[in-house]
Amino acid sequence: MTLFSGQQLIRDIAKRNVTSCTLTLSIKDAAKFMHSRRCSSIVIVDDGFPVGIWTETEALKLNYSKNKEINRPINSVMNDQICTVDAGLEVSQAALKFKIFNTSHLIVLNPDRTMFGIISQSDMVVNQDANNFLTIAELGAVKSANTPFMDSETSISGIVDNMRRFQCDALIISCKGLPQGIVTTRDIVRAISLSQTQNAVSSIMSRSLITAPASMNLLAARSLMVEKHIRHIVVENEQGLAYKLISFSDILANIDHSYSARLHASLEHKELKLQVAERHLHLANAVINASSDGIMMTDEKGIIVAINPAYTSLTGYSYEEAIGQPSTLTSSGKHNAQFYQDMWREMAEKGVWQGEIWNRKKNGEIYPEWLTINKVLEPYTGEIMYSGVFSDVSEAKKSKETIENLAYYDPLTELPNRQLLHDRLDVAINLSHEEEYKLAVLLVDLDNFKQINDSLGHIIGDRVLKEVALRLNNSITPGRTLARIGGDEFMVFFNYQNVNQVSDKAQRLLDSLKIPVQVNDSKFLLTLSIGCALYPSDGENQTDLIKNAETAMYRAKAQGRNRFCMYSPDMNAQYKERLLMEYQLRQALKNQEFHLLYQPKVCLKRDKIVGVEALIRWNSPVLGHILPDQFIYLAENLGLIPDIGHWVIREAIEQAALWQTLAEEPIVISVNVSAKQFIKCQLVDQVKQALRYFNLDPKLLDIEVTESCLIDNLSLACENLQTLRALGVQVSLDDFGTGYSSLSKLNQLPLDTLKIDRSFINEVPGKQGSQAVVSTIIFLAHQLNLKVVAEGVENSEQKQFLKKLNCEQMQGYYFSKPVQTECISAMLEAQKNTS
Ligand code: C2E
Ligand code: CA
Ligand code: CA
Repeated sequence: MTLFSGQQLIRDIAKRNVTSCTLTLSIKDAAKFMHSRRCSSIVIVDDGFPVGIWTETEALKLNYSKNKEINRPINSVMNDQICTVDAGLEVSQAALKFKIFNTSHLIVLNPDRTMFGIISQSDMVVNQDANNFLTIAELGAVKSANTPFMDSETSISGIVDNMRRFQCDALIISCKGLPQGIVTTRDIVRAISLSQTQNAVSSIMSRSLITAPASMNLLAARSLMVEKHIRHIVVENEQGLAYKLISFSDILANIDHSYSARLHASLEHKELKLQVAERHLHLANAVINASSDGIMMTDEKGIIVAINPAYTSLTGYSYEEAIGQPSTLTSSGKHNAQFYQDMWREMAEKGVWQGEIWNRKKNGEIYPEWLTINKVLEPYTGEIMYSGVFSDVSEAKKSKETIENLAYYDPLTELPNRQLLHDRLDVAINLSHEEEYKLAVLLVDLDNFKQINDSLGHIIGDRVLKEVALRLNNSITPGRTLARIGGDEFMVFFNYQNVNQVSDKAQRLLDSLKIPVQVNDSKFLLTLSIGCALYPSDGENQTDLIKNAETAMYRAKAQGRNRFCMYSPDMNAQYKERLLMEYQLRQALKNQEFHLLYQPKVCLKRDKIVGVEALIRWNSPVLGHILPDQFIYLAENLGLIPDIGHWVIREAIEQAALWQTLAEEPIVISVNVSAKQFIKCQLVDQVKQALRYFNLDPKLLDIEVTESCLIDNLSLACENLQTLRALGVQVSLDDFGTGYSSLSKLNQLPLDTLKIDRSFINEVPGKQGSQAVVSTIIFLAHQLNLKVVAEGVENSEQKQFLKKLNCEQMQGYYFSKPVQTECISAMLEAQKNTS
């Protein structure tokens, strides 16, 4: 930070003609010398080297009551702490020295340390062009204490005491209260030189009392003082009364203060601005270079003077090719002269133009760009320049239509999306309100779709969805809105006259999926769950209608899917209950709220437990005991099954391993798995790991799968089961007879056992038809080398009937309900002891 401009050196402004004396000169003679030379200080020199300084201010330190005092040699009172500065130093640096030393004088030294001259702070200030500051400041504003008036009869030593006390170098001397003259330190020095220090002040005071008003500016005051050869001026207040003394050095100090303060501030400001500008320039350059927008600068005539890298990548023209060329280098010829005239007119008027313009790349390709032209004034030369910033908007133009579509249509199925549905439904509700129409809102959810996505991937999933959307769309009246509002959720609404029409339409939607959906070689038998809410009875606004349709849809799912359900108000309570259960279920596994019960499987021939089926139980602290039929489906939908299933596998296998030591013969453990557990190789990995960890023979594990498990997801399920069987694990088909699978297809499945569903066993031996079904199943199963387990055996007749048909095993309340581990252990123990 420089206070002083240029390379000015101290030697250029220092006073050469220094008043100096030797060490032994008396104070009195030194004072005489100073007085004769009209200077305020004397430098004490020894052999050419400055060793001390004595100033008017120091003169005040003398003891004037002793006359002999002034005869003492000067070195006894001089200040030997001299502050020096090299003559070759820059003025700017010397300024700092005044501050550091807190002094008003610096002795200037030659390189050999002999004295060159002296410089005062005032010299520094006067050397600067300070007139500006002098005109601004007024005498009244100059800092100086109000000057005390001293009576003209006061002794000189008394004056000195007061000068010391008030720390001033001059006093106003009055007589009978009226100002008569002034006395200054210079007068004191003169008194010393004349040995008159014991006299009254009136003998030495100067009687020319020059006054000036407080409003006089400093420049005028300085001129007045120079003109009158005085160093002090008496300032009068508005009432014309003298109130303070201002000295030349007060003025200089004021200049020094305000000048340097202002200079400082202005330079600091400039420097800051420069730094900021530099930083901005740097940033601007970085931004311009990194910008993906093309940027070019042209001169007033439109000749390109600068471009950024993006200009080159967008137009194909290199820096060398573009610089010096007219900006029309990239003109496409697509716009007529009028276009450019308008553009330049607007530029001239507003200083900026913005718009879309077609340009041509170096390779001839024509493209639309979004261009902003700004008029720029070159800051240094004042030349007019133009900056052009442009981006290629061809992609944006292309995608604009797509974007508009995206906002309202689902890109996969091309059906209206949720947003458009909302808009249209609003219109439909308003219209129905005005015309008193009835309106039905149907929420259509694809059953088990997530599983297709999870197991077969999104590509297959997307194709299935597309096909489903097409079928649904074909089954509604043209012009009606079918929207895709979520992954596998659709919504339809329409006006109706009677409720039968609603169920007819819902049935048509259900029927549209009767034929399996084919993707590549796979066929998917899909079903829908549909919930319906009616306007105005089930809701008068969109939110209520959709919410209630959703509730009805969940009811349809809960009732076994593949159906349609109308909303009824009591569903809300169930809905809330479902939400509560959902919440509780999410916490259940980590809170260890599950446990397993085991139901024995008994060999009919030998009447012995040969296996057990693990059946999960949920003991919720909030909801109580909950059976799997109530929560497995929910867990599947919440995506909790893979984790719960994993827990069941580990728990069951661990228990089975323990039982092996208790049983006389190895017993098989059956574990139910859900379709949702067939996620890539997760199930296989979990089983393998658990078998190894608990050291259970794979032959002793039996996995029970349902028909729907296989149908939903045939190839992945089969793949998983085959891998498991290859390990030695057994596979049972559960609930046989309730699903679609035909006996003829059984041989294509990787199975060991067939479990005949309870509903058939229920009806034997009494019911003829059922008897035939059961015996046929057992017969065919045996043909296919499958073992048969009969589920739900509740009495001895059933047992006898099955035994006759050579059914291998039975399971049911007749032998035992699902029980705790300890019960099974006891049964196994008992069985061992009886054999
Ligand atoms: P499931 O695999 O068919 O299991 C047999 C069900 O029939 C059990 O119901 C059992 O208690 C019941 N049962 C057994 N013998 C008789 C009988 O003589 N009469 C009658 N009326 N019922 C009998 P539970 O334990 O309520 O299980 C219901 C279903 O929940 C199971 O049907 C199974 O599909 C599923 N489940 C149970 N545990 C699990 C599990 O760990 N994982 C999976 N994914 N599903 C499970
Ligand atoms: Ca089962
Ligand atoms: Ca079963």
